[in-house]
Amino acid sequence: MAIQAACLCGTVRYEIEGPFSSMLNCHCSMCRKHHGAPFATFAAAALEGFRWLSGEEKLTHYKSSPNGTRSFCSVCGSVAPLLMRDAGTVLVPAGPLEGDPGIRPQGHMFVGSKAPWYTISDSLPQHEAYPPECGDVPSIPRPTVSAEPGKTIGSCLCGDVAYEITSAPLAMYQCHCSRCRRARSAAHGANLFYKLADFHWTRGSSQVVSYKVPEAKRFTVAFCRRCGASVPQESPTLGGVVVPAGGLDTDPGMRPMAHIFVNSKAVWFDITDTMPQIPEAPPLPTAR
Ligand SMILES: [Zn+2]
Ligand SMILES: [Zn+2]
Ligand SMILES: [Zn+2]
Repeated sequence: MAIQAACLCGTVRYEIEGPFSSMLNCHCSMCRKHHGAPFATFAAAALEGFRWLSGEEKLTHYKSSPNGTRSFCSVCGSVAPLLMRDAGTVLVPAGPLEGDPGIRPQGHMFVGSKAPWYTISDSLPQHEAYPPECGDVPSIPRPTVSAEPGKTIGSCLCGDVAYEITSAPLAMYQCHCSRCRRARSAAHGANLFYKLADFHWTRGSSQVVSYKVPEAKRFTVAFCRRCGASVPQESPTLGGVVVPAGGLDTDPGMRPMAHIFVNSKAVWFDITDTMPQIPEAPPLPTAR
């Protein structure tokens, strides 16, 4: 039975015949930046059962490594499937899947590059880099970055967009709402809230695209036009900024406080940590 998926704005839609053959959580820094999430989850299926239903012409492709291209919706920034023609495989980001893919995550890869603020609490196998079944694939080294004391810095995947925050975060939540799942194209988002006055773009702000969900009161995402990576979204009305934690280059100091919108959680994802679970919205952090 085919399963469908759509980006946040609904422009890009696709269908996968399945069945899915594997599902892995990837903690590599490129996935974290592209998705803006703690990790990305990709489900693999045969390419012949994959069909674009709409919006293929709205995709932007970014070459993130010598043999890797990442695609995203140019309207809303949602991550699109990876078509591996040589292998006859499609890698589908699990966040936007509608319904049950009939498979559950089988392990974690690139835990060597895991975010310092995220703790793996399930008992799935953990691979330092690629899992052994991928063979001897060379890893792409990523630059290590440090910030001046008192500053937290972040950047997009291509590096054109960068930002800094000069205060401590007000809150940090793992968000399971269906909008975050499609926007981040991941199991859930991990969002930090800061005072807007303490947030500054250090380069590339003109390259940031914002997309607001028309029917939402304020749900807006921002991403880099060139690489599609999730970047902070400023909210002048709230006096705050929402920073997708996956985009950070340094440790924000804070750790996630709770899971929120747990009523909308993906069926294929189990919460295994002991953090509080809030069914819907959390109390809004006051930024003023
Ligand atoms: Zn879209
Ligand atoms: Zn990855
Ligand atoms: Zn970029």
